[in-house]
Amino acid sequence: MTNRFDHVTQEDILLYINGEFVGSEAGRTFDNFNPYTNEKINTIEEGLESDINKAVAAAREAFDNGPWRTMKLTERLSYIYRIADLIDEEVEHIAYLEALDTGLPIKQTLAMVSRASENFRFYARMVESRLIGEAYQVDENFINYTINAPAGVAGLITPWNAPFMLETWKVAPALATGNTVVLKPAELSPLSADVLAKVIDKAGLPKGVFNVVHGFGETAGDALVRHPDVQLISFTGETVTGKTIIKNSADTLKACSMELGGKSPIIVFDDADLDRALDACIWGIFSFNGERCTANSRLFVQEGVKDRFIEALKGRVANIKIGNPLDMATEVGPLIHKEHFDKVRNYLEIAKAEGAEVLTRAIPEQFKKGNFVAPTVILNAENRMRVAQDEIFGPVLTVMTFKDEKEAIKLANDIDYGLAGYIWTNDLKRGHRAAHQIEAGMLWVNAQNVRDLRTPFGGSKSSGIGREGGHYGFDFYTEKKIIHVAINDHPIQQFGVQST
Ligand code: NAD
Repeated sequence: MTNRFDHVTQEDILLYINGEFVGSEAGRTFDNFNPYTNEKINTIEEGLESDINKAVAAAREAFDNGPWRTMKLTERLSYIYRIADLIDEEVEHIAYLEALDTGLPIKQTLAMVSRASENFRFYARMVESRLIGEAYQVDENFINYTINAPAGVAGLITPWNAPFMLETWKVAPALATGNTVVLKPAELSPLSADVLAKVIDKAGLPKGVFNVVHGFGETAGDALVRHPDVQLISFTGETVTGKTIIKNSADTLKACSMELGGKSPIIVFDDADLDRALDACIWGIFSFNGERCTANSRLFVQEGVKDRFIEALKGRVANIKIGNPLDMATEVGPLIHKEHFDKVRNYLEIAKAEGAEVLTRAIPEQFKKGNFVAPTVILNAENRMRVAQDEIFGPVLTVMTFKDEKEAIKLANDIDYGLAGYIWTNDLKRGHRAAHQIEAGMLWVNAQNVRDLRTPFGGSKSSGIGREGGHYGFDFYTEKKIIHVAINDHPIQQFGVQST
């Protein structure tokens, strides 16, 4: 496909602080690379602690004294709807940038980015209809009621694997509920966050309400986490990073929402619709280059159908089209970065050393410059192996078998992670039963990963803390306040009235 953006040179990217696009205070920059060629795309201003301090000061001022928090709700939400409309105008452009920046196939970034504006519209509608309080009547004496106040300055830290989707997923509820925001996007995928800053700038939000500071996690991200004027951190990324952030946010006692790693099971029972289960299994691990938090990276297939299922799987995986992420026909593109590529490749060696069989294929010569790992299936694996326990975060499916339901559940749960789970069976009772027993935040029965924005999103065990999505996000992005009002003269004890 020739893309109408192909000829566009990417300009260097600035920080967005207090309604202006600015350079970093220290004048530092870093280079951004194309995973398909490993050539430089452009230069990014590198935010450090001083830039975070400026952004937080702007967000604080906008929260405390700006009109954002106090303006009429309809006015605030009209900004949110305007952001959504402006995103819709940029869908193709953003999808192109995401494919260029991350190596995700453009067909998939187009589908993903097309849904991003809905994050804003959805949260505008949710705030209108569901950001509600409760009232508690106490006899004839009190009426107590709750209100939802915005928390303050929200620090949002996002990963590179679905950048625009995950950024909008956090920015939308944070802004719609009246907070101000400092976003620290992943250093490996800065392009689309810059478009978000431009869109929000164009939407004309008051100065300081939304800020973007590019930079590295250990410097810019850490400064945001430790800043005393930031009330909450919504983080999506690796489990190890999440643990560090919780520790580093302890001194300033922040609320933290943690969307972390996963190693999710897909369980295929003998009685499943095997054709549909196969489609879902392949899509669930090989879409988004396997760099997907909810990927079904562990397949458990029941012994009665294992030969048939695995044969069909092998045939299909051998056929998956790898290629240029900007080609509409590409199904799997290059991984985000050389280091990540090395990590994923190393897992194939680990699998062999552990005694598993690795089915992969050579990368054609014309793609050797990119960070390509071919879609890979690991057979004869056991649940204790590292390839069955660690999050590889690439196009690698580890296959295991099971005898009965009890064993499937035991194996599925024998892992630190608990993000998602997928169950394929035509036994209605078993489907529900298994879903109840699998230790994960999100389960799908006879379905691929289809999201419903109204439902809670998040993981258990090492996959996260808290739930975002739907009205669940309100618990995090707002402070619930209880106001007690006496409507009668209730008794009040009188100290100090007795004469001694
Ligand atoms: P990462 O943890 O390396 O980085 C995520 C973000 O955290 C980046 O912006 C990074 O700069 C920042 N960061 C790193 N160290 C930091 C520190 N000390 N203080 C503050 N910020 C810091 O994750 P990644 O490699 O970008 O993303 C992949 C991971 O994200 C995978 O583990 C994947 O499962 C997970 N993920 C989870 C979900 C979910 O909803 N559960 C969704 C998408 C991705």
